[in-house]
Amino acid sequence: MPQSIRKRKKHSPTKMRPARTSLFHGSNQPFEIYQCKIEPSDVGEVLVKVNLAAICGSDLHTFTGRRTSPIPCILGHEAVGQVAESTDVTDFNGNTLNEGDRITWSIVSSCGTCLNCTSYQLPQKCETLSKYGHAQRSLPRDLNGGFAQYIRLQPGTAIFRLPDSMADSESVSLNCALSTVIAGLNVIDIGDSVVIQGCGMLGIYATSLLRYYGCGVVAVVDVRSDRLKMAKNFGATHTFNLTEVSPDQINDELLALTNQYGVDLVVEVSGVASAFTDSLDWLRIGGYYLTLGYVYPEAVTIVPMDKIVRKCLTIHGSHNYHPRFLGDAIEFVQETRHQYSFNLLIGNTYPLAEIDQAFQEAIKGNQIRIGLNPWE
Ligand SMILES: [Zn+2]
Ligand SMILES: [Zn+2]
Repeated sequence: MPQSIRKRKKHSPTKMRPARTSLFHGSNQPFEIYQCKIEPSDVGEVLVKVNLAAICGSDLHTFTGRRTSPIPCILGHEAVGQVAESTDVTDFNGNTLNEGDRITWSIVSSCGTCLNCTSYQLPQKCETLSKYGHAQRSLPRDLNGGFAQYIRLQPGTAIFRLPDSMADSESVSLNCALSTVIAGLNVIDIGDSVVIQGCGMLGIYATSLLRYYGCGVVAVVDVRSDRLKMAKNFGATHTFNLTEVSPDQINDELLALTNQYGVDLVVEVSGVASAFTDSLDWLRIGGYYLTLGYVYPEAVTIVPMDKIVRKCLTIHGSHNYHPRFLGDAIEFVQETRHQYSFNLLIGNTYPLAEIDQAFQEAIKGNQIRIGLNPWE
C-alpha cells in the first residue's frame, strides 16, 4: 500500500468510552457536563487522556466576563495527560509518540509558515492560530479544551514528553504560566535586582526562576500576606505588602538595597494597571519593565510618559511563548524540584462534575491554582 494512502488511515479509539467534557456557556453561568462520543483522529492529530488540569487566571477572566470567548467552548489550557492511542506524530524533539506517553503541549497550534511563525518568530501569534481552551467547539468533533477527559491536539502543536520523576501537579502549569515567564525573561537584560509585581502562579515561578538565574535581590509585591509568605519559600529575598507599605516606602527600601540606583528590572504579573506607574520610580536609569499580566482590555492607566523617556526605560510586553520555552520549563522544574515544592502550587483538586464549585473556589484566590481531575 502506498505510504500516502496508509497515512490517511484514521486511528480508531475502539477501546474508548465516551468522553466527559464541561461546556462553558457564558460568563458566570453554570457549566454543562456533557458526554460526547470520541471520533477517530485524523492524521497529525493526537488524542490525549487528560490526567489533571488547572484553572488559570485567564480561565477566570473568561468566566467572569473580563475576556470574551466564543461559546460554547471547553475551557482549560493548563493540563497534562497521556497519549491515548497510537499515532504517527512526533514530539518537539522529533521522537515518535507512543500510546501511554505522559506529555505536556503548547497552548496553541500554529501553521509554521506564516510571517509570524517564521520571520517574526512568534508562532503564538500565528495568522491561523488555534488556542486550546479558548476556541468554539463544534460538537462532537472538537475536544479542544483541557477541562474534559480527553483533548485532541492538532497538527502544529509542540508536544513534549514529561520525565517520570515529575508529578502531574508539578507539570500541569508548565505549558502556560512557567513557559510564559521564561519566554518573557528571555528577551530582556535581567540584571541583579528585580521586583515582581503580583504573587500568583506567574509571580511564584518568576521568583524561583530569577533566583535560579542568580539575581541577588528578588523582591515580591502583593496585597496578600499568605502569598508573600509563599514567595519566600520560592526564593524571594524581600516581600512588600501594599496594604502595609506605600509605593514610596517600597521605593525607599529598594533604593537602599541597590546603592540608591533603583532596580534593574520590574516584572509585572499582577494584571493591576496602576502597578505600572508605581514601578517607574523603582527602576534605575536604563531599567527594564516586563509586563506579562495585562491580558484583558480594561487594563488601562494614566502614565507619566516623561519618566519612561527621561529614565531611558525599556518597556517590554510578552504574551504566551515560542514552544522551545516549554522545553526549558520542563528542564527548570526537573532541576529545581527538590529545592522548590512546585506541587504545592496546585491546591484543592475537584472532580470535573464539580467544576462550578472549583471555579468559585478559584475566584476566592486563597490558593494559587485549583486543580480539576476529569476522572474522579
Ligand atoms: Zn493560562
Ligand atoms: Zn503561522
